[in-house]
Amino acid sequence: MKYFLPASPAAQDFGEYKKFGQRVFRECKTLAKGLRGLQVFHINSTAAGGGVAELLKSQIPLEKNLGLNSRWLALQEPKKFFFITKQIHNLLQGQKGLLSEPEKKYYLDQLAKPGRELRRLLDKIPGKPVVVLHDPQVLPLMEYLPPAAGIAVRLHIDLSTANLSALKFLRPFLEKADKVIISHELFRPDWLDRKKTAVSYPAINPFAPKNRELSLRRTAKYFKLFNIDLSRPLIAQISRFDPWKDPEGVIQSYYLAKKEIPKLQLVLEGAMEAKDDPQAQGIYQQLKMEYQNDPDLHLHGEKTLAGPAYQTWVNALQSRSGVIIQKSLREGFGLTVAEAMWKGKAVIGGDALGIKAQIKNGRSGYIVSSPAECAKRIVQLEKNPQLAKKLGQAGRLTVKNNFLFNRLILDFLKIYNELA
Ligand code: UDP
Repeated sequence: MKYFLPASPAAQDFGEYKKFGQRVFRECKTLAKGLRGLQVFHINSTAAGGGVAELLKSQIPLEKNLGLNSRWLALQEPKKFFFITKQIHNLLQGQKGLLSEPEKKYYLDQLAKPGRELRRLLDKIPGKPVVVLHDPQVLPLMEYLPPAAGIAVRLHIDLSTANLSALKFLRPFLEKADKVIISHELFRPDWLDRKKTAVSYPAINPFAPKNRELSLRRTAKYFKLFNIDLSRPLIAQISRFDPWKDPEGVIQSYYLAKKEIPKLQLVLEGAMEAKDDPQAQGIYQQLKMEYQNDPDLHLHGEKTLAGPAYQTWVNALQSRSGVIIQKSLREGFGLTVAEAMWKGKAVIGGDALGIKAQIKNGRSGYIVSSPAECAKRIVQLEKNPQLAKKLGQAGRLTVKNNFLFNRLILDFLKIYNELA
C-alpha cells in the first residue's frame, strides 16, 4: 500500500491469559467462536511510539490468535499533517485556540488519497468488515468506508475539557460512527448518544518484554550505559515530551525534593519515536538547553537502543526506580501508570481523569496537583520504603484485576459482536 504501513507484531497465545481469570477467558473464547474469520482493520497514525501503538502491538496478535482476521494499518503522512493533527489533539485536551480554515482543509484533503486506497482494499474483502479508527488523525477516513462496514472510533484522549470549536469540527464524524469507544464516561460529549458509546480502559501485556519480570543482573548494564547510579535514589517519568505530560513540572518537583534528598536522580525517558508527535522534539531541545549542566537529571530524548532491548530498558527503569511519576495535566489513561503499578511501584500521578481511574489516592499511589505536592510525596516515599511497597502491592493487584489484556479483548469482542 502507498499511504499505509501494514504492521505485523509478533504472535501471542491468548491461552497465556487463562491464569488471570477463567471466566473472562471462557467468555472471550465463546464470543470469538461466533466471530471466527471476521475481518477487522485497526487504523492509526504510527506503528511505533505512544500508547496506541503499544496497545495495537498486543491487541492484533491476540485477536488473530482467537480466530479473527485482524490487521493493523498505520497511516503515512508528511510532517505538516501531523503538526495539524497534534494541534487538534491539543485542542481536544483543552488547549485554547482555533484551527484555521486552511488547516482544516489541508487535514481533510490530505486524507482523500489514503481514503480511496483504503476503500479499494475494503471493496475486495468478502463479507462485512469492521474498521476501528484510532484517534482524530484518521477520523475523516470514515467518509471513504464502504456502507456495509461496521465503524468504530477509538478515542484515546482526554475529552473532559475539550475545546468546543475542535469538537464541533469533528462532531459529524463521531456521530456517523456506529460505536465510539472512550476510556472514561466523562470523556463522552453530551451530544453523543450514550448507547452509541462504550467505555473501555486500555490495558497492558504482562508477557511483553516491557512488563515481564526482570532479574536485577539483567538490568544493571543499562544503568551503566546511561551513567545512572543505582546506589543512589532514582525517580523517573516515562513519557513523550508533551505539554500535557508536564515534564517541566516533574523537573520542578525533582528540584524541590532534591533539597531534602541531595543525591536524588531523575530520568525523563521520552524517546522521540512517535512520528505523529512532531511537537516533542522542540520541548526536548528546550529542556536540554536549560538543564544540561545537571548530571543527575537525565533527559532521554533520543532512542539509543532498538527493539526488545529498548523495551527491556523501559522495563528496567520502571522496575528499579524508587518512585515512578506520571504528572500529567490531562490523560486519556496513561499506560505508563499501569506498567509501573504492575511492577509493584508506588506511582505519583497528576490529577487527570485517566490516572485517577487507576490510582486510588493514598491506597495504591498518590494523586498530586502541583510540583510542591509531588515533591512532598517523592520525599515521603523515598524515606519510607515500606509505605512505597504497600502502595505498590495494591497497585499491582489493581492492574491484575482491571488493566490486563484479557479484559480489553473481552470489551472489543463484545463491540465486534454488535457491529458484525
Ligand atoms: N513509552 C516508551 N518510551 C518513551 C515514552 C513512552 O516506551 O520514551 C511507552 C510507554 O512505556 C507506554 C507508551 O509508550 O507504553 C505511552 O503510552 P501512554 O498511554 O502512557 O501515553 P501516550 O503517549 O499514549 O499519551
